[in-house]
Amino acid sequence: MENKKIIITIDGWSSCGKSTLAKQLAKELGYVYIDSGAMYRAITLYFLRNHVDWTDTAEVNEALKNISIEFEFNAKSQQSEIILNGENVEYVIRDLVIAEKVSDVAAIKEVRSFAVAQQQKMGEKKGVVMDGRDIGTTVFPEAELKIFMTADIAIRVERRFKEMYEKNPNITIEEVKTNLEMRDYIDSHREVSPLRKADDAIEIDNTHLTQEQQLNYAMELARKVI
Ligand code: C5P
Repeated sequence: MENKKIIITIDGWSSCGKSTLAKQLAKELGYVYIDSGAMYRAITLYFLRNHVDWTDTAEVNEALKNISIEFEFNAKSQQSEIILNGENVEYVIRDLVIAEKVSDVAAIKEVRSFAVAQQQKMGEKKGVVMDGRDIGTTVFPEAELKIFMTADIAIRVERRFKEMYEKNPNITIEEVKTNLEMRDYIDSHREVSPLRKADDAIEIDNTHLTQEQQLNYAMELARKVI
């Protein structure tokens, strides 16, 4: 008998390694990985490029009508990448300029409804691992496996700094720390779908775990459900 396909949600603080675990889990299980944060980042990129005043609801609604977001598997990088209105923006959206604004944009009700509707559609056939901030609480409250990730702030800053420094050697550790703390604060204090652990989510603190240990643990959890 074929194994049943489930939905796995991974939520948590910024730079906890959610996407690393989500990608590995998806690969092990032959599931689709969806990076919901990339969608908020792509919307932010569109708003910045088109000078959308996101404090104006009418302007936001108008702009959202012109945004089309898709994910496309790139055989070369062996990962799914985000396409905004036909343009691959997977790398541009990782810039600090976007990271500095994305939490404000993601707090807007209309933006969230727009993104959540698409995320729910992507999960219709199950067999999906999606990471973000509200996946287990709002997008898929009925998901079969929910993981909530945490790690010490110092470790998270170090990991994100290494990642960003490779692309931008001018970046400082203070800039990275300030950005992570600011996003965590806005994400967990916003009115619509704030970041919180779903009551039935299993917490993984990966401060002292290797990637292999965390994957083994998550696979054990997934196997139990599947
Ligand atoms: O996951 P990532 O760090 O790329 O997400 C960027 C930002 O997008 C987060 O800081 C948060 O403001 C927003 N986000 C969200 N809900 C999600 C995923 C991301 O609000 N499900």
